[in-house]
Amino acid sequence: MIDLHCHSYYSDGLLSPEALLQLALDADIKCLALTDHDTCDGLERLHVAAKGKPITIINGIELSVQWKKHDIHILGLDINPENLNLVIEQQKTQRIDRAKSIGLLLKACGVDNAYEKACEVAGHNRVGRPHFAAVLLQEGVVSDIQMAFKRYLGRGKPAYVSSNWINLTEAVQAIVNAGGVAVIAHPLKYKLTRTKLHELLKAFKMDGGAGIEVVSSETMPSDAQTLAGLCSRFELLASTGSDYHGTGLSRVPLGRQMQLPSQCTPIWHTWKGVRGHGVDFCNTSG
Ligand code: MN
Ligand code: MN
Ligand code: MN
Repeated sequence: MIDLHCHSYYSDGLLSPEALLQLALDADIKCLALTDHDTCDGLERLHVAAKGKPITIINGIELSVQWKKHDIHILGLDINPENLNLVIEQQKTQRIDRAKSIGLLLKACGVDNAYEKACEVAGHNRVGRPHFAAVLLQEGVVSDIQMAFKRYLGRGKPAYVSSNWINLTEAVQAIVNAGGVAVIAHPLKYKLTRTKLHELLKAFKMDGGAGIEVVSSETMPSDAQTLAGLCSRFELLASTGSDYHGTGLSRVPLGRQMQLPSQCTPIWHTWKGVRGHGVDFCNTSG
């Protein structure tokens, strides 16, 4: 089993890297990439914990990226984290500025100190909308997370702040320069029209992008087939990950996303550490 997309509490996940590792070992995951939002801070602890354990750790990150008017998530896999420091610093500043703005808008909605509370929820100051949603829930302003986005945090809502992330080209280049491969995370989640999605894939490929996430947490078999088709059309490799954030936040447990369609070429087919691991990760049948 392989899971190339999950989060620790260094971004918006609930678990420590050690707890995540234990979960992965219990689930018999052979290869795990930690892909926290715009940070690599959890990687070192994960590597330390995984030492001597029957699992391969892949260095990962999930970068928030601007493409035209859309917020797109790009996974960087098998990266050298030090080479991403500049981009990470840039994203961190942007994230904190944005979070403070969201805090001010929520104050105007009658929720005091939302930024500080979100930082408390997160345990760090690089907070994002899920943390604010948790605060709104905690304060009894909304009765569930979805409502927090629908009423306050979603695009066009009173506490929505548009972001100023690095652009697609910058992100892909940074990942490639850091020795990694760039993957478009959950391509169907952005609600792009077919034409726009094709345009994105073309631009991504031209920038040096390597793959798309064919299977993510809630991917339906028909969607996986669609994405597998796009892989062959745009000559992209296929990635897979649960996008696990923690119990209660994720519909699919770590490593339990559906299998990649058999016609896909997995993104890891050239990874030495993974291929040489003695496990047939490419076995994608049923
Ligand atoms: Mn997240
Ligand atoms: Mn994402
Ligand atoms: Mn994610």
